Amino acid sequence: MARLVMKFGGTSVASVERIKNVACHVKREVDAGHEVAVVVSAMSGKTNELVGYVTDAAKLYDPREYDVVVASGEQVTSGLLALVLNDMGIAARSWQGWQVPLYADDAHGSARIENVDGSGIIAGFAAREVAVVSGFQGVHKATGRITTLGRGGSDTSAVAIAAGIKADRCDIYTDVDGIYTTDPRMVPKAQRMDKVSFEEMLELASMGAKVLQVRSVEIAMVHKVPTYVRSSFDDPMNPNTGTLICDEETIVEQQVITGIAYSKDDTEITLRQVADKPGVAAGVFMPLADANINVDMIVQNISEDGRTTDITFTVPAAEYDRAVDILTKLKDEIGYRALQGAKDVAKVSAIGIGMRSHAGVAARAFKALSEKGINIRAITTSEIKFSVLIDAAYTELAVRTLHSLYGLDKA
Ligand code: ADP
Ligand code: ASP
Ligand code: MG
Repeated sequence: MARLVMKFGGTSVASVERIKNVACHVKREVDAGHEVAVVVSAMSGKTNELVGYVTDAAKLYDPREYDVVVASGEQVTSGLLALVLNDMGIAARSWQGWQVPLYADDAHGSARIENVDGSGIIAGFAAREVAVVSGFQGVHKATGRITTLGRGGSDTSAVAIAAGIKADRCDIYTDVDGIYTTDPRMVPKAQRMDKVSFEEMLELASMGAKVLQVRSVEIAMVHKVPTYVRSSFDDPMNPNTGTLICDEETIVEQQVITGIAYSKDDTEITLRQVADKPGVAAGVFMPLADANINVDMIVQNISEDGRTTDITFTVPAAEYDRAVDILTKLKDEIGYRALQGAKDVAKVSAIGIGMRSHAGVAARAFKALSEKGINIRAITTSEIKFSVLIDAAYTELAVRTLHSLYGLDKA
């Protein structure tokens, strides 16, 4: 007997019919004698609809009430799945985040999980009861208020609950049958991987592969939760195991580049003709840091006049207006001539542990992109990845180009 967490995303629970299919997957594990906690997302499209209601109701909304509204999607799914399971003769009950309880901080809208008290769920197991837990939501202990974990947060709920109840495995069921070398919906030649290391998955997720929320990978890595990504559309009686996320030591055949990710969530800001003297970078980036705006790529160039410098950097699209506002107010203090912004940019990244021991990996990409006429606006590199910022219109071409370049295309 094992203890399992099974997580089902929005597409997998998009209708009552699909929830019945999910129940068949759960039944398979229960019949095999396992203790099962299921974590569910809202039905697909539901969370967007709820976010829309909030912004219709109040432009500058109170994030605490935002959380009350958007957390409700998961409540519906957990109740429906418990009903279906009971109807199939399987003992089950729903758990909301506050009932578990799954404690999170009070960063409403993107709260971080602090602690999961698994005792209630485990007591249910003793009575042979399946726990159906609403993903995406927790409760802030001091205020007792509902919090949500950021978009895609049900992945994180699932892994954190797996850690909290000391599960043997966490299975993330979704609408693809594993982790691919890049988004299989964009590149049909993408290949499914049997295993991927925590470090690489962390980078893939951070760089835009939406298949797992970044935080879920961090928790899986820290708490050593064996986590699989697999398909809910497989035959419930004969499913594939999907992709295991694991320590890099257990991966025998290592490619130089493992995967390509892309993100259109960044925007570019350039400050033209900034005085070239010590303290200027701090003058630009400290106020942004103080406003909790995350700056990612930074490029500093000598301006055309040879005496000043141009500073280009990226900020998340959601923070663009705030960043421009702050820098515009500080124009005289910082001392720059003009601010230029671009929203139609994309970041394309290549990730691979093999980069640690191979030289010239990124250089090959720059050449291949230039041969396709793709202009690189900014570059960042780290130990196991590099990213280029390009015009958004070229995203797909750039992803396909790098995917082929590093030998990732399916034959
Ligand atoms: P869920 O609703 O189950 O949480 P998501 O839509 O959040 O599902 O994540 C699954 C999607 O992630 C897939 O449909 C796929 O388009 C996308 N995706 C992006 N990059 C990858 C990748 N490298 N491997 C697999 N899927 C990926
Ligand atoms: N329903 C939430 C969202 O759409 C959480 C999730 O699906 O993981 O972001
Ligand atoms: Mg998701």
